[in-house]
Amino acid sequence: MGEVRLSVVIPVFNEEEVLPETYRRLRAVMHGIQISYELLFVNDGSKDRSAHLLEELARRDPHVKVLHFSRNFGHQAAITAGMDYAQGEAVVVIDADLQDPPELIPEMLAKWQEGYEVVYGKRMKREGETLFKRFTATLFYRLLRGVTTIDIPLDTGDFRLLDRKVVEVMRLLREKNRFIRGLVSWVGFRQTAIEYVRERRFAGETKYPLRKMLRLAWDGITAFSDKPLKVAAYLGFLLSLCSFVYLLFVVIAKILGKSTVPGWASIVVINLFFNGVILIMLGVMGEYIGRIYDEAKNRPLYIVEKKVGFECREEHTP
Ligand code: UDP
Ligand code: MG
Repeated sequence: MGEVRLSVVIPVFNEEEVLPETYRRLRAVMHGIQISYELLFVNDGSKDRSAHLLEELARRDPHVKVLHFSRNFGHQAAITAGMDYAQGEAVVVIDADLQDPPELIPEMLAKWQEGYEVVYGKRMKREGETLFKRFTATLFYRLLRGVTTIDIPLDTGDFRLLDRKVVEVMRLLREKNRFIRGLVSWVGFRQTAIEYVRERRFAGETKYPLRKMLRLAWDGITAFSDKPLKVAAYLGFLLSLCSFVYLLFVVIAKILGKSTVPGWASIVVINLFFNGVILIMLGVMGEYIGRIYDEAKNRPLYIVEKKVGFECREEHTP
């Protein structure tokens, strides 16, 4: 097929309801821009008919390539695999559920041709998502910005275009609990945003239950900030100050002969409070130690069980 200019990476987890439409819209966009391209679907261990549908597409269309994971490794791992195997000069990452409109790709390409190496989609509005999701997402992006030293743009997901140069750098970053949008900010280069309205899911349900969302949020914070660890020091300082004030109060009360209360309640309260704080801080340390442990084990980020549509050429193992 020769040189590929544009790779579109699409992570897929149980998306049978949307895949035909996603493919149709992507292909329409690609036809419109006359560019050599590949559609690289990463099947992240789907349990529905997604795998079958993807193989069907790959059989009919030589532009379609599919990586099948051996199990569900998660959205961020799927994107990582897509970047590892993509061959284009530019790589666009887009969700399978059509919440990120493929029709924006030409606009991203135009920015790329202007010389930007990263073009990310910034969500102006989110449609068809619960109030809870919108609220927590808004809160999260602001919190993340508050605790990190790098400049992670607000309200951007993984919908973005990366130049080959950036992809090559990203491929060198093999950290385990990945927060890709943070890594992309971290690598630098010339970056710009295009604004869009995040549409509702074309069909099916979110594949990001609260549990996965919290995990991603926590990965984002821990990967780019050590502030949570420092909270222990701040708290310790603050609490010592409080106890000192209380100590003064107790001593003065004693001198004035007013210490008639046995003080059981205050001892219990102080005990509970301090134990709570200590346990929370132990938990925070545990989170970081767990991540160190993940790095030490150094397992691969994903396991590819099967590749479809890749010509037999040199191995691509990162
Ligand atoms: N996804 C994935 N692995 C997962 C969860 C999600 O590859 O474990 C894919 C999913 O198929 C979709 C994209 O990641 O293409 C974003 O997921 P989703 O739309 O469910 O998240 P939301 O938009 O609700 O945050
Ligand atoms: Mg979605």
